[in-house]
Amino acid sequence: MLYRVIDRDELPSLVAAFMERYEVIAPVQRGSKYVFAAVDSFDDIVLDYPTTIASPKKYLMPAKETLFEFNAEENAVTDYTCEVPARVLFGVHACDINGMLNLNSVFTDPRYPDPYFQARNDATLIVGIGCTPSEFCFCNLMDSEEARPSYDLFLTDIGEKYLVSIGSVVAANILEGACTVREATDADRIAFRAVTRARQKAFNQDIPDVQEIPMLMDAFHEDPFWEELGGRCLSCNACANVCPTCYCFDIRDTLDPGGATGRRERVWDACTSPQFAMVAGGHNFRPTPVERVRHRMYHKLNGFLATHDRSLCVGCGRCALACKVDISPIEVLKFFERKGA
Ligand code: SF4
Ligand code: SF4
Repeated sequence: MLYRVIDRDELPSLVAAFMERYEVIAPVQRGSKYVFAAVDSFDDIVLDYPTTIASPKKYLMPAKETLFEFNAEENAVTDYTCEVPARVLFGVHACDINGMLNLNSVFTDPRYPDPYFQARNDATLIVGIGCTPSEFCFCNLMDSEEARPSYDLFLTDIGEKYLVSIGSVVAANILEGACTVREATDADRIAFRAVTRARQKAFNQDIPDVQEIPMLMDAFHEDPFWEELGGRCLSCNACANVCPTCYCFDIRDTLDPGGATGRRERVWDACTSPQFAMVAGGHNFRPTPVERVRHRMYHKLNGFLATHDRSLCVGCGRCALACKVDISPIEVLKFFERKGA
């Protein structure tokens, strides 16, 4: 990885350079919260945000998208059109970068690649930024504290400067054109290490650091704990909607009023939804919230690991914030701690 340094006051020039060629999506304030949204001025961007309500997942996998349109009278199907604007996701935290990498592993699997996701992914640059953990963050426990090298640039604030980790040629060229780029000095590296250490100390120490989580998920699969945890679930799907790594979807065909034309749409779905595991004939493989919550936690903390060698949950903490009845992987970690793990 190549490291460079720019002065803090050059960041607006970098964003302006991106805006010449890309739609820029960045964290902005909405009331007392933060969201990712399109911006047309550097002044709208908030870079020291704690976390956003939802992840930037929607820019790679919209909550609803048309896959193709059909005309039954003409027996015609339009090719899918994925008119994706060239975008920069600017100011993304490490957990969300790793979350998008998890989505990437799913949707670019060569056995069943997803052209819609791929088109968006190919048109998107990612500029990450270092963060300070908030109360519900536990990316450090999910091996997601550092962004895996799937970004184009990653900025770390080291005082009046940013240490810039460069991940792509296209972003490096834009950086070089917009800013006075310097080699990192020993003092810059020392400052970077100090920032990293301070960040590590800032994580909420009340969230237990449990080892061998996948094994524990198997060992306690039948424990009454799941009745207590899952029994509280309201099936509202808020957890899945804010999660950077939930990727399940449903497919619907919608007919226009005449009945001859229509479209096939993909919409987000969630395994916490009562109908999610219902099949033809009416059988439901997970009819209770207890089974659904346990399934969700199992996939996040164990199931994905078997095929992708990393946990699906990246520890962003959003579901802990969103859930009205305190269901989240944090509660599972606390349960394992109570069991002496
Ligand atoms: S399960 Fe919760 S903490 Fe884990 S990635 Fe999803 S929203 Fe974040
Ligand atoms: S776990 Fe919480 S956020 Fe998720 S569906 Fe159940 S009640 Fe809603």
